[in-house]
Amino acid sequence: MNYTEPQYETKSAFVAIVGKPNVGKSSLLNALVGEKVAIVSNKPQTTRTRITGVLTKDDTQFVFIDTPGLHKPHTKLSEYMNQQVTDSVADVDVAVLVVEPMGEIHKAEQDLIASFKTQRIPAILAINKIDTVSAKEKLMSRILAFSQAYDFEAIVPISALRGDAVDELLGELAKFAAPSPFFFDADTLTDQPERVIVAEIVREKLLRSLREEIPHGTAVAVERMKEREGGGILDIEVQIYCEKDSHKGMIIGKGGEMLKKVGSQAREDIERFLGCKVNLKCWVKVREDWRNRENIIRSFGYN
Ligand code: GDP
Ligand code: MG
Repeated sequence: MNYTEPQYETKSAFVAIVGKPNVGKSSLLNALVGEKVAIVSNKPQTTRTRITGVLTKDDTQFVFIDTPGLHKPHTKLSEYMNQQVTDSVADVDVAVLVVEPMGEIHKAEQDLIASFKTQRIPAILAINKIDTVSAKEKLMSRILAFSQAYDFEAIVPISALRGDAVDELLGELAKFAAPSPFFFDADTLTDQPERVIVAEIVREKLLRSLREEIPHGTAVAVERMKEREGGGILDIEVQIYCEKDSHKGMIIGKGGEMLKKVGSQAREDIERFLGCKVNLKCWVKVREDWRNRENIIRSFGYN
């Protein structure tokens, strides 16, 4: 396995479903992922996850993300990423703007369009609730108005309630999928993506603190992620693997200074990303044959 430049046979698309309240975002998510929706949200960790649903179809995994207002989190997130994880996690690949079939462009929608522009997010317009529209011609002025406001990649009239044209929308979304590992098991949902991201944050801090001189073969794995009883704090244990004793010394630093710095910087970012208090413990371990250890590889999110 080529660790630095992984080749994937699978693809993923990170999709933000946005729009003003009551336009049918939740209904659309349901129509898209069906029973598999928001299994993540049954878990107590829900509050710290931005992932609302996952759909795996053939070689493509769609990860739907809740990004209210599409604000900074995902641009911030992109900083954490490097070659280990594809850009698909760093940013949403595409946004779906869900709108009503009638009326003027709402202020909230203008703001969303503005954020597509500044953050260069390709977007698809889903004109929902077309089952309430008696004649298709009535949609024309709406289509025209929105296409003047933004260069949408596609405009798809749908009915989330009846499931009309939802497959068509999915087909449009698939065009934005990029080669990557599956972050979720095709059947069971886990908190794997969060683990991958947490590991990436720690790796990024290491990279910065060691001034880009992170020893070759250094890897980060999240060993444990558990909400403390009584809630409020998430305990995270991270293992930093390196290949030599000398590397271990570099990473830990004089009197543990380096590791301490990395740990506290990483904790801040993890807290910001997950939206909760975090107690982060980092350990450094020499493991010469880590590349061969399947369980470690798997803990990075590779299958
Ligand atoms: P959200 O606030 O954007 O998540 O919107 P919801 O999915 O909660 O839907 C708001 C309301 O719109 C609910 O009463 C839905 O039943 C209704 N709705 C959603 N999609 C459709 C649709 O395609 N057709 C019709 N007629 N109603 C819909
Ligand atoms: Mg909703």
